[in-house]
Amino acid sequence: MNISKQPVVLITGASRGIGAATATLAAQQGWAVVVNYASNARAADAVVQQIQAAGGTALALQADVADEAQVLAMFAQMDAHFGRLDGLVNNAGVVDAQARVEEMTVARIRRMFDVNVIGSFVCAREAVRRMSTRPGVNPHGAPGRGGVIVNVSSAAARLGSPGQYVDYAAAKGAIDSFTIGLAKEVAAEGIRVNAVRPGLIETDIHASGGLPDRVAQLAHLVPMQRGGTADEVAQSIVWLLSPAASYVTMALLDVSGGR
Ligand code: NAP
Repeated sequence: MNISKQPVVLITGASRGIGAATATLAAQQGWAVVVNYASNARAADAVVQQIQAAGGTALALQADVADEAQVLAMFAQMDAHFGRLDGLVNNAGVVDAQARVEEMTVARIRRMFDVNVIGSFVCAREAVRRMSTRPGVNPHGAPGRGGVIVNVSSAAARLGSPGQYVDYAAAKGAIDSFTIGLAKEVAAEGIRVNAVRPGLIETDIHASGGLPDRVAQLAHLVPMQRGGTADEVAQSIVWLLSPAASYVTMALLDVSGGR
């Protein structure tokens, strides 16, 4: 197996939106990027081609993060291709249609937690096994050389999203607690764990929840009076990944225009 000379970052949900912007920026800053996607192979391939055209290194790998077997297969493919893992961005996330709690089905609530929370846990578990400097943590190989994990939470974790999607907000609240606990658990093993909490960001996610104009409609609630861009969030994620953030762990960084 060839071991990549470049540091390798796996970004879940990197075919579109914040994940795609993070993949592009990370590649510009010298990372080899695993572009994970759920179903949109064409969009993931476009991100990979854009990175490669600019001289960077990228590989698209399909996996539904809510499916443990698919996540394990993705990590195995990454191991075979790059032979190392230095960064993980737990970015894949979903919302559902606007609803009050009393209207929510268990299937809907379960999907929110399966994708947004359990997906991030399982990907982080696999990353820690490869990154931790602690002997015995990796059941398949030698101890790792450390690394960094960035979880993509949401301002919704603080705001609660009443009348829209309290289930999503609660899942992101779990991501904040997960970030704090995991950061402390692995801090002495060479792994930094942080989260960004984006506010209203212009991506497809709002249309997927049935509200394509959500950012424009709610921009007046943002102290900066506008939505943010995927690239503005990517800048913070890539900074947290970088050695410039070498003493930053357990941070929950709001990227929300003051909201
Ligand atoms: P987006 O534009 O809807 O893109 C979602 C990405 O996640 C796509 O690449 C999609 O892949 C992937 N994905 C969805 N479900 C997946 C699964 N089960 N397994 C693997 N990949 C999956 O979303 P976004 O707005 O960029 O959001 C990215 C993250 O930021 C999410 O965690 C979201 O909660 C968070 N966030 C967004 C905002 C905002 O205003 N946009 C605000 C706060 C937090 P396919 O292309 O294959 O479908």
